[in-house]
Amino acid sequence: GRQVVAAALEAHPQGGWLSPEATARLLSCYGVTLTESAEACGPDEAARAAARVGFPVVLKAVGPVHKSDVGGVRLDLRTEDELRHAYHEMSERIGPAMTGAIVQPMLPAGVEMIVGGVNYPVFGPLVMAGMGGVTADLLADRAFRVPPVTDPAGMLDELRCAPLLHGYRGSPAVDVKSLEDQLIRIGRLLEDLPQVAELDLNPVIVTTGGATTVDARIRVA
Ligand code: ADP
Ligand code: MG
Repeated sequence: GRQVVAAALEAHPQGGWLSPEATARLLSCYGVTLTESAEACGPDEAARAAARVGFPVVLKAVGPVHKSDVGGVRLDLRTEDELRHAYHEMSERIGPAMTGAIVQPMLPAGVEMIVGGVNYPVFGPLVMAGMGGVTADLLADRAFRVPPVTDPAGMLDELRCAPLLHGYRGSPAVDVKSLEDQLIRIGRLLEDLPQVAELDLNPVIVTTGGATTVDARIRVA
């Protein structure tokens, strides 16, 4: 973990957002589960990546900060043709701001949550959990803890969206324990690495089978 951060700060002494690979490496040091992500430059590489990952896949632009706002996320692509077509459309629409792409497996639907963190210069680390999805900013349903996170279940139960996790109106209860585990791990990462100024897992998709992050960014300073 420290090595990844040190290397990133050496490359960008003034800090900044980590690359997708560095982000994945740092999170994996702390056992935070990211979905498989294969980098692909161009439709041919994307097709090869999809063959490895397995259809259906998701194609995402690398470069833009809010990918879906600019048409940089295409979900549930079922064939190589669909994927190639989506790649061309995406690179045409976004232009040179798109520096590459990643291919991920399309995960089954679940409860979308946000896990975040900050390290304030004087105050120190703070972990955030909240409701994810398109309405996240609108509803601002969030809970905070100073790590170590000793009561992740209590933290999640403070959220108004908590019933969604425990099985709401006929939908099954999801694997809340996995999400709690991820909160503890993010707390540890922030405590260990004060250079991590900002961290954002959005969303973590929680299903009956676990809690998997499909989009993550980390800023070092
Ligand atoms: P951004 O936040 O930059 O717009 P995301 O990677 O968060 O892009 O993707 C936007 C939305 O697409 C997510 O909130 C989620 O609903 C869906 N999504 C992204 N990746 C996957 C995936 N691998 N499987 C299923 N759904 C996904
Ligand atoms: Mg996102």
